Amino acid sequence: MAMFRQRALNEAATHQTKRYYVEEGPVSKYFGENVLDLDKLRGYVSQQAYDAVKASVKYGEKLDRSVANEIASGMKAWAIEKGATHYTHLFQPLTDSTAEKHEAFISIKDGKAFEKFNGSALVQQEPDASSFPNGGLRNTFEARGYSAWDPSSPVFILDGTLCIPSVFVSYTGEALDTKVPNLKSMQALNDAAVSVARLFDDSVKSVSVNLGLEQEYFLVDEALYNARPDLTLCGRTVIGHTAAKDQQLEDHYFGAIPSRVSAFMKDFETEAYKLGIWLQTRHNEVAPNQFECAPVFCEATKAIDQNMMLMILMQKVSEKHHLKVVFHEKPFDGVNGSGKHCNWSIVTDTNVNLLSPGKTPDKNLQFLSFYASVVRAVYKHHYLLMTSIATLGNSYRLGGHEAPPAVMSIFSGSTLYNVFQAIENMKDVKSVNDLESIKIVNSIPEIFPDNTDRNRTSPFAFTGNRFEFRAVGSSMNVASAVYVLNSAVAESLNEFRMEVDKLESAGEERSNAVMAVVRRFVKESRNIMFEGNGYSKEWEIESERRGLRAVKNVPEAYEVYHEPQTVRLFANLGVLAPNEVEARFEILNETYVKKLQIEARVIGDICLNHVIPAAVRYQNILIENVRGVKDIFGEEYKEMCSSEFATLKKISNYINRISLDVEALVEARKKANRVENIAERAKLYSHEVKDMMDKVRDSADNLEMIVDDEMWPLPKYRELLFF
Ligand code: ADP
Ligand code: MG
Repeated sequence: MAMFRQRALNEAATHQTKRYYVEEGPVSKYFGENVLDLDKLRGYVSQQAYDAVKASVKYGEKLDRSVANEIASGMKAWAIEKGATHYTHLFQPLTDSTAEKHEAFISIKDGKAFEKFNGSALVQQEPDASSFPNGGLRNTFEARGYSAWDPSSPVFILDGTLCIPSVFVSYTGEALDTKVPNLKSMQALNDAAVSVARLFDDSVKSVSVNLGLEQEYFLVDEALYNARPDLTLCGRTVIGHTAAKDQQLEDHYFGAIPSRVSAFMKDFETEAYKLGIWLQTRHNEVAPNQFECAPVFCEATKAIDQNMMLMILMQKVSEKHHLKVVFHEKPFDGVNGSGKHCNWSIVTDTNVNLLSPGKTPDKNLQFLSFYASVVRAVYKHHYLLMTSIATLGNSYRLGGHEAPPAVMSIFSGSTLYNVFQAIENMKDVKSVNDLESIKIVNSIPEIFPDNTDRNRTSPFAFTGNRFEFRAVGSSMNVASAVYVLNSAVAESLNEFRMEVDKLESAGEERSNAVMAVVRRFVKESRNIMFEGNGYSKEWEIESERRGLRAVKNVPEAYEVYHEPQTVRLFANLGVLAPNEVEARFEILNETYVKKLQIEARVIGDICLNHVIPAAVRYQNILIENVRGVKDIFGEEYKEMCSSEFATLKKISNYINRISLDVEALVEARKKANRVENIAERAKLYSHEVKDMMDKVRDSADNLEMIVDDEMWPLPKYRELLFF
């Protein structure tokens, strides 16, 4: 067999099931031991310093520099006790991953070594960060960027380094990360939601977002992974014929977890528990070698930070197990891709989930207000929301038969759907006192949305007390989707309150005013509600008829960031200034181009250096064979070798096609690269370069079916997916 593949298979066969992180006693004993939360910090600093941090966490108050010194020294003491030698600011630049630059605690003065960490190192760092994506926000001559400690997220120790969750901004203060706009969107949503919640309960002081992020991923044996240049460089396979068996028997979903995988899961869970990540669920997913883990939901910033940490942890721990975690949205053609279902709800400081239907009519009025506002927000910004999760990786997944379609819709479940239909059909809102309107409210004293009533084909589904944004990609930092959602809902809630106020000052009674606005919002957003099969052809036609815009092409969708409605949304709420939106637009296009460029290069290399040589070798064997038959049987060989002739022709045909198509692919790239404007370049890439890649892949995958298995150079799908 081809050496490369054979070696990988041999090596994979030696990889064993083993636990590496085994802790004594129950999880509760070590849960959170590597995080320095407020409670623990109290033991390391004075009451005054503790109060200052607490105020900063709870009310966003600025920390005094002198206090920062004391806190830093407390953190240092804790970290050193835990064996840490370094510290780093940990931030989330616009790359969907995290960034860290470790600094040693060690310092030497007068020949004496000691550990040093002061307030200014804690609060602010200046990473030499000129090579992070900045979308033109930073000129190279002032290439400085600042990372600044975000006290709302606790510091923790990973791999012997004290990690300090931080925001990342430019020299002139523009956001260069996903955290800043997310924190701002949370503030905007808080303000808006509080003002609506106070219509029903004036003791509400603040509203926060809760997130539960389900993480899907694939596992591939490290040796096999390393033998695939496409997996190592692109995170996905750019060629590969589907295996005879994939997921058609539906035997993987919720199946028994293989012991090697289970050992890996237990190991990363142990490490996650130490970081205070409350993992709850683990299971096999639909595709072979696809799995999922889910934590219990928590406050959004924490949930996002923890998800980013979890992904790092999983990658680190997987190395020990000779496994590779694949977070790509569509690593393998023909089987399901991976998402990061984003469960989103909003809750008051009085601990009321505003998306939980209540037990009494007035509580339901509150629920309906929030529900209607979300529905309206999602309708108004449906294209922006869908675009917020549009990446090259996710574009291979969305709209496939197993993933949410690339057009937004909301699934409410039959109970709620009927309620909304009834609300919508109410007659005159002027006569809000009429029995009918009261009846609507009264007729739903208790809503029990059927929790089992799941619609897996909906990109945005209501699941009883929260929305599940199912279209988010598995490798993404969800913050970029969450701040869009938060902003849209904040805008909608602001409008809701304004409309109610208007009616009230015109003399309307409050519950009637609220009901009238609910009705208006529901009526106007009717088109976004869809209870049927989102994967069906009918929905594609129907959604278009309803005027819902689908994300058919990623760079074309990015143009939504130029639409006034988008720019206004972010600017009015103070989430992103217009130049920050423009920077993100640039970065998105740039990232799209770069990723596709890498994929195009890789598929070209693989075809020229692996696939064609293997095909030629096999062709030569066939030619030898034909010669031999001719030597023995003379003229009869023509008839005897007719199938070899056909195969030889097929191989030649595919080889020629690949050569020509790879050349055309290079040309398409060159042509696109000549286009100065990044958005236009991305569009060319998305059409011409992508089209050529599909063609190349088709020939390569056909050759895989013809060429002797022994000679095929790359691990095949059946090996990658069924180790
Ligand atoms: P499923 O796969 O059936 O959707 P999971 O149990 O895998 O469900 O994940 C559900 C996620 O939703 C969990 O992370 C859970 O903690 C989270 N969740 C539950 N209630 C809420 C809520 N009120 N707000 C946000 N997330 C929630
Ligand atoms: Mg799940």
